[in-house]
Amino acid sequence: MASPETSVLRGQLEDERERLRARLAELGVGSDDFDGGFADSSQVTAERGELEALAVTLTDTLQEVEDALGKLDDGSYGRCESCGGDIAAARLEAKPAARLCISCASKQR
Ligand SMILES: [Zn+2]
Repeated sequence: MASPETSVLRGQLEDERERLRARLAELGVGSDDFDGGFADSSQVTAERGELEALAVTLTDTLQEVEDALGKLDDGSYGRCESCGGDIAAARLEAKPAARLCISCASKQR
């Protein structure tokens, strides 16, 4: 996919990645030592549980964004991970890190 929009999408994804990293940093989550850090704690308070859930969501989203950037690099960006079909441009505009086409995504939920 070598359309002019690719650079726009890359910019959006990079912005999103920065936002997510900043929010994770605010939560005190290091990108490298996060895995296992919470899991080791046997005394997780409710508040910490909420933070953990938020951190997991942010980390998952960050991973999606990084995967999408990787796909831009290897040329597979915009392809559905489930059926291999093209993801509609409108969907990518709304959610640049989308992994699935609209029909596969709707089947999953
Ligand atoms: Zn699909």
